[in-house]
Amino acid sequence: MSETNRGRLADHTTLRLGGPTDSLVEATDRDRIVAAVTGADAVGEPVLLVAGGSNLVVSDEGFRGVTVLLRSRGVTVTDDADHVEVTVAAGENWDALVARSCAEGWSGLEFLSGIPGSAGATPIQNVGAYGQEISSVFRHTDVLDRHSGEIRRFTGPECHFGYRDSVFKHARDRYVVLEVTYRLAKSPLSQPIRYPETAAALDVAVGETVPLAVARQTVLTLRRGKGMVLDPSDPDTYSAGSFFINPVVDTARFDAVAAAATTTPPHWRVDGGVKLSAAWLIGQAGFRRGYGHDGVAISGKHLLALTNRGEGSSKALLSLAREIRDRVEERFGVRLRPEPTMVGIDW
Ligand SMILES: Cc1cc2nc3c(=O)[nH]c(=O)nc-3n(C[C@H](O)[C@H](O)[C@H](O)COP(=O)(O)OP(=O)(O)OC[C@H]3O[C@@H](n4cnc5c(N)ncnc54)[C@H](O)[C@@H]3O)c2cc1C
Repeated sequence: MSETNRGRLADHTTLRLGGPTDSLVEATDRDRIVAAVTGADAVGEPVLLVAGGSNLVVSDEGFRGVTVLLRSRGVTVTDDADHVEVTVAAGENWDALVARSCAEGWSGLEFLSGIPGSAGATPIQNVGAYGQEISSVFRHTDVLDRHSGEIRRFTGPECHFGYRDSVFKHARDRYVVLEVTYRLAKSPLSQPIRYPETAAALDVAVGETVPLAVARQTVLTLRRGKGMVLDPSDPDTYSAGSFFINPVVDTARFDAVAAAATTTPPHWRVDGGVKLSAAWLIGQAGFRRGYGHDGVAISGKHLLALTNRGEGSSKALLSLAREIRDRVEERFGVRLRPEPTMVGIDW
């Protein structure tokens, strides 16, 4: 475990934004993570957990406390006739795991290719893309419960997974994910394609399957076209991914949105109402790709990604985000909520 003083959090977020932290601890295995967090808790020092920093917006003032960089490594695999169970340390790179699963013939992660960040963060917001979510392959996770100081195991139902949501997202100061076990089918083929965009790109019907490597390459190509794969040479990827969650509204609000819009809103019936596309709402509110000011802008490739063009600040990013939120709300009566974790920011 190495400790340095007053690191800059901008060096540890994909937005490349965030002020200083009092101290920075790099925890390279499970025991060191537990020691760093419980040690800080024992003296009442605030803790910020950072893994890939790809879902974080940290204020320019930074974080008063200890930032623990989750850098644990290790993957173990057990198998039975039809499945493998893959147990992954929290700090493992997510996309490296997906690449390995596709190469090994383990089916269930392929549509989650190209998502930045760590394995340990995947249960936090039930990471998902292109019709696949972690919850569908999740077996269990071992977490440090900071209230009791004990290691606890959560199974799927105990995680209360929802759309970009889980029990962990609402108890950020309580649970530290130490490792995650996924259960994957032994198959050279993808899970059935559920997303029309993926099916169209592959020229197959929704519900069909394709070889894992083909699914992965197709998703990577689609994601690159939207700036959704990290690329140091492309400022459109200096983001936290989708900035806003797709809102779920009741039927009356959906009807009002449809009446106020110039085209039929893309929508999906879900538990609790109708899910709308945040990107569509932003476009209908008059925003265009590339729009921005003060060194930050909407991505040139995707309306949902807010990017740092290299010289931006968190203050400027939040000002742009609030401008978008407020104009969408004025026009449609729908208040957008941010997807990333905010640190030191009053949203
Ligand atoms: C270009 C781009 C594309 C993206 N595309 C997608 C996408 O398609 N789908 C999607 O769901 N997300 C997407 N994201 C968001 C992000 O990549 C995921 O949410 C990812 O799982 C975050 O992992 P991380 O390790 O970077 O987490 P961090 O950003 O380091 O942390 C995020 C939050 O989780 C907490 N946390 C992290 N690790 C742990 C742990 N082990 N235990 C407890 N708390 C922890 C942190 O304290 C913080 O609150 C994208 C982001 C970017 C930049």
